[in-house]
Amino acid sequence: MIDKKTTLTDIEDNSLPSGPDGSKRKVMYFYHPDVGTYYYGCGHPMKPQRISMVHALLKEYGLLKHMECITPPLAKEKVLLEFHIDDYVQFLKEVTPETQHEMLKELRRFNVGVFDCPVFNGLYDFCRTYTGGSVCGASKLNDKLCDIAINWAGGLHHAKKYAASGFCYVNDIVLAILELLKDHERVLYVDIDVHHGDGVEEAFFLTDRVMTVSFHKFGKYFPGSGDVRDIGVGKGKYYSVNVPLDAGIDDDSYQFMFKPIMRKVMEVYDPKAVVLQCGADSLCGDRLGCFNLTIDGHGECVKFMRSFNVPLLLLGGGGYTIRNVARCWCYETAVALNKEIPDVMPYNRYYDYYGPDFKLYVPPSNMENKNKMAQLEKVKAEVLDNLAKLQHVPSVQFQETAPDFYITEDQDEEQNMDDLPNLEMMEIDECELQPGRARSDSLELRAACI
Ligand SMILES: [Zn+2]
Repeated sequence: MIDKKTTLTDIEDNSLPSGPDGSKRKVMYFYHPDVGTYYYGCGHPMKPQRISMVHALLKEYGLLKHMECITPPLAKEKVLLEFHIDDYVQFLKEVTPETQHEMLKELRRFNVGVFDCPVFNGLYDFCRTYTGGSVCGASKLNDKLCDIAINWAGGLHHAKKYAASGFCYVNDIVLAILELLKDHERVLYVDIDVHHGDGVEEAFFLTDRVMTVSFHKFGKYFPGSGDVRDIGVGKGKYYSVNVPLDAGIDDDSYQFMFKPIMRKVMEVYDPKAVVLQCGADSLCGDRLGCFNLTIDGHGECVKFMRSFNVPLLLLGGGGYTIRNVARCWCYETAVALNKEIPDVMPYNRYYDYYGPDFKLYVPPSNMENKNKMAQLEKVKAEVLDNLAKLQHVPSVQFQETAPDFYITEDQDEEQNMDDLPNLEMMEIDECELQPGRARSDSLELRAACI
């Protein structure tokens, strides 16, 4: 349905004119061998095992030897407290499947114990494990020890300051961005999960030091937020970008939106670091998703963001047909490394999952693309128009770089909480909120402001 003539330039020209896309990048890969052993429970679509499946593919494709592989330390409690409230972190630390019935009030308050966010064995350590990879990755980028940091276990974008949501308990993305802000004036967050990146948007809704851009299914779909009219508030106005899409979007339609919008974002915002949440539930055939992207189309987003040669943190996210999630993130690791890998899969520990074809690439389905050209054009024009209103690249004065708050086990227990990046703090009135903002907990934005 997309006119190839219209999109050809967008698809081929994926570098800023001034930014040569050198092919080599130093890549660090963060993987904790325990992460795949956690289990949300019988029938739950979120399966941490998919991270082990990615790792097995990377190993057998021979990709591990091209990057530095790091087992990240578990994030410490004080790291989680940089964003989440103390009561919530204490609760995550204490609750167990055996004792949860004694904590009914807290379960309700923190949205835990429901089907989406169950209490399972090792919940707190699971959170610390996936968060450790993201924050450690950000820290290595700060120290310029790599160009691209990858943590496929991270990307849990729905978690709130004060509650769990949508299979997410701790928001590792927000914590990683806070880490990046210590050394980078402006951080760009891009989200290609099928769901709106609400937790991250909310955390930075009031600031211009982080721009969030989310491409997602909108309309009668979890979490319900992410209207194109939601653009940020106060100093953050125009620094939240939402690209609502409909079911069945294919590679061409997706890139018709993604590349021009992201090119404009890179031009007007000029971020000093980029975080890309690569949620794989936007792939065709996902158990919960409703998009029709192939691994090629999904990976094209990684390729495009990589081409700007800005420090890049690649994170996972959703993805519930786990054989395709593993295929996708393996392919995207190869993209990060600028390596071609064969379509025929090498034998690996999870080989049986990939039958009957045992290939890496999966063709799109024949589902209907409900995104009509006129609607895509309209949304794109509105988003580009908002971006054009950003006159100046915001800057902050760096007097002294705060020390990293990511502390490894053998470092000092005590670190001053004042080391946090100095973000704008402001109060907002209800009336300032944008009309399209779907959720009813807008007052909580005050609490979420960081
Ligand atoms: Zn998702």
